[in-house]
Amino acid sequence: MALGFAIDARDGAARAGRIQLPRGEIRTPVFMPVGTRAAVKSLTAGQTKAAGASIILANAYHLALRPGVEAIEASGGLHEFMNWDGSILTDSGGFQVFSLAPLGRVSDEGVEFRSHYDGARMFFSPESVIDMQVRMGSDIIMPLDHCLPYPSSESETSGSVQRTLSWARASVTAKAGRPGALYGIVQGGVFGDLRARCAAELAGMELDGFAVGGVCVGEPAESTRDVLSHTIPMLPEGKPRYVMGMGPPADLLACIGMGADMFDCVLPTRNARSGYVFTRRGVVRLKNASNAKSRDPIDPDCGCETCRSYSRAYLRHLFNVGEILGMTLATIHNVAFFEDLMAAARTAIIEGRYAEFAACGIDGG
Ligand SMILES: [Zn+2]
Repeated sequence: MALGFAIDARDGAARAGRIQLPRGEIRTPVFMPVGTRAAVKSLTAGQTKAAGASIILANAYHLALRPGVEAIEASGGLHEFMNWDGSILTDSGGFQVFSLAPLGRVSDEGVEFRSHYDGARMFFSPESVIDMQVRMGSDIIMPLDHCLPYPSSESETSGSVQRTLSWARASVTAKAGRPGALYGIVQGGVFGDLRARCAAELAGMELDGFAVGGVCVGEPAESTRDVLSHTIPMLPEGKPRYVMGMGPPADLLACIGMGADMFDCVLPTRNARSGYVFTRRGVVRLKNASNAKSRDPIDPDCGCETCRSYSRAYLRHLFNVGEILGMTLATIHNVAFFEDLMAAARTAIIEGRYAEFAACGIDGG
């Protein structure tokens, strides 16, 4: 068994669970900081762990282009390569292939595209994408899926669901007997019937978890909520449920309330590098003049290294003069904020007060 999952408590549709992986236990709900190219930007592995992360996301597409699967294999796998002893989920990069790569050509066999680094011709099939991630040593593997931009017509979206399902079947076969857990990805755009068909067919496959993909791709926020509230409850109850690419704290809390367990987003790390930090009282812009003489931490209720040791005045100074330490310290705080938010949600679920907790309102996006 590549992955075990147990639900400790339920409160309405919200669940507090534990995912068992070879490198340890993941308590859910969980937020995965994004380390696209085998680095959580500006943080060491030790800082990422100290901020509370137990699992990070890396991107197989980016890593296959540079440094290449062989280089990672030669280093003993992705964990060794980046000195991360927690768990790693690798995204297949289907989304990146369709959004970043010029001249992508999709067929039932896979997708042909040119590297966005050097224009080299590449071909990803569902089988090659599984092989790459297995060889990198990923703990949770995401299959190649066909993610369409918004807006797309119902017939185009129906075709992408068909292809995503056929690739999911091929992925299950390619992964069989090899290490790593494999998730399925529900596509279907903003079309409820297509989402339902995709979820129902994936539920019948030998998969370790289920993800909702193709959200936050440019559709109105209202559509995102509709799709998620409709799709999350359709995912199998006894397996982890992962909402891909969603980040605003209020949206995470809403998804947890719908029964989702796992999240990833660049929001905390990207915003930190611009000096935007999350607090329990809303987003703070560190460069603001109001912080110039403040000896206060970013958030007095946060126990991260940054809040224990550094004032807002110092952080503002670092950002104003362009010292890279500012990015590191702000990223430590933002990752800790997201991990703490998930831990607090978990406690609220276990104590049966999740609705009250989620309604108390966290400002920020
Ligand atoms: Zn902090």
